[in-house]
Formats: sequence, C-alpha cells, structure tokens
Amino acid sequence: MLARIVNTLPFRLQQRVTKLYFQVLTRNQHGAHSEKQFNEYNKMDVKILPALQDNYMYLIVDKATNEAAVVDPVDPKSVLEAVEQHGVNLTTVLTTHHHWDHAGGNEELVKLKPGLKVFGGDQRIPALTEKVAHDTRLNIGRLNVQCLFTPCHTTGHICYFVAPPEEGEVKAVFTGDTLFLGGCGRFFEGNAQQMHNALITVLSNLPDATKVFCGHEYTLQNLKYAAHVEPDNEHVKSKIAWAEEKRAQQLPTVPSSIGEEKSYNPFMRVNSPSVQQFAGKNNPVETMKAIRDAKDHFKG
Ligand SMILES: [Zn+2]
Repeated sequence: MLARIVNTLPFRLQQRVTKLYFQVLTRNQHGAHSEKQFNEYNKMDVKILPALQDNYMYLIVDKATNEAAVVDPVDPKSVLEAVEQHGVNLTTVLTTHHHWDHAGGNEELVKLKPGLKVFGGDQRIPALTEKVAHDTRLNIGRLNVQCLFTPCHTTGHICYFVAPPEEGEVKAVFTGDTLFLGGCGRFFEGNAQQMHNALITVLSNLPDATKVFCGHEYTLQNLKYAAHVEPDNEHVKSKIAWAEEKRAQQLPTVPSSIGEEKSYNPFMRVNSPSVQQFAGKNNPVETMKAIRDAKDHFKG
C-alpha cells in the first residue's frame, strides 16, 4: 500500500521516503515482516531477505565459485550483512524494475561496495551500468542468467531466469512485480495484452519445476481473490491453508513453482473455462483485463 502511493511521487522524493523509512525502522527497532530464510540447492543457494513492509530481496549464490548477485537491494545494509555472514563475493545487482521499493537502494549499495555491475531494463533505474533486453544472457559465476522482458507493471520490467549449466538441477525465476504467488502486479504502465504475454507466453513456458521468487509477500491477499474467482478450485484452498500456517510463524511463502502457479493463480489460468466464466469472457486477453479490473476493486 505504502509502495503504491510512493511510486506516484517524483524519483528524488521516492529516495527521500526510502531513507526516512529506514531511519524510522532503526529508531523503533521494528521487526521485519518475515524471517530471513536460506534455501540451499545443489548448485545454487538463494537467501531470502525481507525488506520494508512486504518486499523481498534475494541473494543468489553460485556454489561452485562463491560469486553472488542480489535482486532488488532496497535495503543495502541488510544485503551486505548477508554477504559478510555467508562469505560470498557479491559482483552483481539484478534490478527487476525502477520503482523505489526495488531500485531505491542501488545508489547506496554501489557507494558502499564500488565496482558492482548493475543490470536492469529501464533507464530510470539508478546506478544502472548494463541495460538489458529480452534474452540478454549473463552469468553469476557458473550460473546462467537469462533476462525475460515482461513489460506491463512498468515499461522496462525484467524477470531473471537463473539456471546451473548442468541438466536436471534446480532452476529459479525472479519475477519482481510481474508474477506474484497467486497473483500479478498492477498494470501501471501497460495493458492486458502485455501481461498475457508475460505470464502465458513467457513465464508459463519455463519448466514447471522452476522456483518462483517474487517481489512482495502478497500471497494470502492474492489467494483470497483466487478463491473468489474459482471457489471450487482445490489447489487454491489447500494453498491458502498452507500459506496461513507459514504466515502465522512469520515465514516467507516464497518460493512456489511455475507448475504450482498454473494450478491456483487466476492470472496464469486465463485459458481455463472456470476463470473465463467468472470474467464473463471467452478469450484469454479479455479475461486477463476483466480479472485484473475486478481485483483492483476487490475488498476481500
Ligand atoms: Zn513495482
């Protein structure tokens, strides 16, 4: 909610709000919204770092070389603490989009740790050193990163698909404010056709087992809406019960997987008869528009 208001302000003002927010946080010694969590896979690790009211930053580590990248480091101090704690070599910043609650920490992080490469798909991203486009490839040590251009929430939004070079290893996609667990980002600078392309053409075609790490902890609110759209969907019901348990312990609900999202996320299911029926439409793009409009006015 706070992010939504601040995103409408000029960028300089957004940065001042970010700074003030952290001053208040420090003064109140206010707790984070979720526990930090370290997900270890065979070839890569992903450290989940909560920030602000409901944002997630992610530290991605290539286990073979110890090289690391951070996704959307809005709270640079917390990122550098994790870097030190795990003894990794941070070289790279992956920015999903220019909004202050994702990109607002870039300048300070680069000041604290000069020489970082800052990737992103939008000139409005502060401290950007490498502008990427769809299918731009880069590396974090031995890990391959593929940039996926998914404009709609903002015109320059990028998702990052990370995969070890070996077959059969765990892969992950960092989806910022495009795909959330159980939902999708608002169409601030785009339309339903673009979100359809992002979710159905691009992200749905990743392997079903791909882990999904998104930009915010919005899962329970999103699933409540999913239950409103598809009251008979058993996957929605069981994911709600699971997520309620996690949140009761202040644990993150990320990651899910692409396959899971296809089973309960209405925005990934615009081809399914039950979602089209709720929307009163018979084509997927119109369904996408109708269910987004309805969610914007949904009171829970
Ligand atoms: Zn955003």
